[in-house]
Amino acid sequence: MQDAQDGPSRTDVDAIVVGAGFSGLDAVHVLRERGYTVQGIEAAGGVGGTWYWNRYPGARTDSKAFIYCLSFSKELREEWDWSELYPTQPEVLAYLEHVADRFDLKRYFAFDTTVTAATWDDDTSLWTVDTSTGRRFRARYLISGVGCLSAVNRPQFDGIERFQGRVEHTARWPQEGVDVSGQRVALIGAGSSGVQLLPELAKTAGSVTLFQRTPNYVAPYTSTRFSDEDREAYRRDHEAIQAHIRQNPGTMYFSPAGPSAKLADPAERETVFEQAYAQGGLAMLLGTYEDLLVDPESNDLASEFLRSKIKETVHDRETAEILTPRTYPFGVKRPPCGVGYLDAFNEPTVSVVDVRSTPIEGFTERGLVVDGSEYEFDVIILATGFDASVGALLRLNVTGRNGRRLADVWAHGPESYLGLGIPDFPNLFTIIGPLSAFGNLPTVVEHNVDFVADLLDKARAAGTPVVEADVAATDAWVQESRTIAAQTLLTSAKAANSWIMGANLEGRELAVLWYPAGANTYFDRCDEERERGFPGFSLAPAVPTTAMAV
Ligand code: NAP
Repeated sequence: MQDAQDGPSRTDVDAIVVGAGFSGLDAVHVLRERGYTVQGIEAAGGVGGTWYWNRYPGARTDSKAFIYCLSFSKELREEWDWSELYPTQPEVLAYLEHVADRFDLKRYFAFDTTVTAATWDDDTSLWTVDTSTGRRFRARYLISGVGCLSAVNRPQFDGIERFQGRVEHTARWPQEGVDVSGQRVALIGAGSSGVQLLPELAKTAGSVTLFQRTPNYVAPYTSTRFSDEDREAYRRDHEAIQAHIRQNPGTMYFSPAGPSAKLADPAERETVFEQAYAQGGLAMLLGTYEDLLVDPESNDLASEFLRSKIKETVHDRETAEILTPRTYPFGVKRPPCGVGYLDAFNEPTVSVVDVRSTPIEGFTERGLVVDGSEYEFDVIILATGFDASVGALLRLNVTGRNGRRLADVWAHGPESYLGLGIPDFPNLFTIIGPLSAFGNLPTVVEHNVDFVADLLDKARAAGTPVVEADVAATDAWVQESRTIAAQTLLTSAKAANSWIMGANLEGRELAVLWYPAGANTYFDRCDEERERGFPGFSLAPAVPTTAMAV
């Protein structure tokens, strides 16, 4: 067996890992540690994944720093000092750079290399991966670490090429930045990216006009700086913190105040909501009451509280009304967190145009047209999000057994066992893939990678390296996910245009993209599968080849 580290011409390895974000870096590290040879492939010029691309001003995590990191190494924890509770993009990128250097991972990656096709060959029991550079890689295993929010959504606005000014997308923000000083800026999109960017633009731009289709329940951020004492406390309490987030449905470090908002004492509930709002971040959703996403009455109470905050903060009545969500429940659309977002609308240079009932008609040379009126700009910024969860996987052009294309198999929504394995796509494993758990993603990533590595170890020990998710286990997992989702408020995803169910993309069928019973239940189910010896996966011998050792 050749080793990918021996030189650039060596392409036959045990595993190909696509992506150099949290998932890819962890997968390369863990598989190397367990003795597998690995080739990483990354479209970007460096490591970081989402944190490489999303360099727009204001980008930061809405997970707390001391959980938004890899937990496997005590040394890593000891030597990395987070500066604040919700770190900014440059800090998270610096962290991932550090991880890659600390564990010597960059040498296993081909950067600036995009996967153009991945094809399973039943005659050799190998994956062949073609890339944009012309290099072709072969491996027994194909591990996707492409992330769930990485395939950029660029709506096809009529005449966009005619616009003479600058057009940028938040998820492909130029490394050198965009100087908007004194410029007339249009921002399209009011999701997490737009909400984080808008107040930053407002600091220097001549004017900022938000074109908003669906308003959001925006919570504020309170990102405190860490003292040395804070950092010591997080290090000391690491085990307890990890145990806590493992039991939390969103893998977050919050403790709900009670089981039900509607059953709580009204005065107490008001205090709980006020405290959560002041705490900021995702506290309103994950740190108040457990039934917000399942009980419409409880949800109404939280939704109405957040509407009242918009009214309280935004002075102009008409503007406040445009910014107020009324057609869908809180939490069905992932709530953005914003530093000074609502307050920014009190600035004379910041305004909002409602494009829900009168969509953007198209671009002109000077700007864009809504409801027959032309708005002129120097810069137009798309904060229009992603083809979430499935998009990045489908863009790999994956073909499995008997020429079956993943795009066809998933035409009516993704089907996968535990979000990790797909029947007819042997030896393909999708870290944080569709129907795995959503939450603090590094936690889910590490759990997924360890699970896959244990499964491969079992296959290696048994001499049966062809691993495939069972049809029956997959069908049951898909059915369970759909049944649970139907019992939650996620059924309102269409009204919210929520990417959580792929409802943000025109022409896309609504799909369950995540296991909806919570990450804690998901981890239990994966652990049970592992303890029972992986009954939901079949293991078979490979077709013998001379090149491969596994
Ligand atoms: P998003 O939540 O999908 O928001 C996209 C925005 O673009 C929406 O307001 C959408 O309107 C609008 N839009 C799309 N097409 C449009 C069109 N043709 N005309 C007008 N408006 C259009 O995307 P995102 O803000 O990039 O965030 C996606 C996810 O990434 C977040 O939910 C979060 O999970 C993650 N993220 C996290 C952070 C963080 O805090 N750490 C920061 C950024 C992103 P509709 O709502 O009507 O579709």
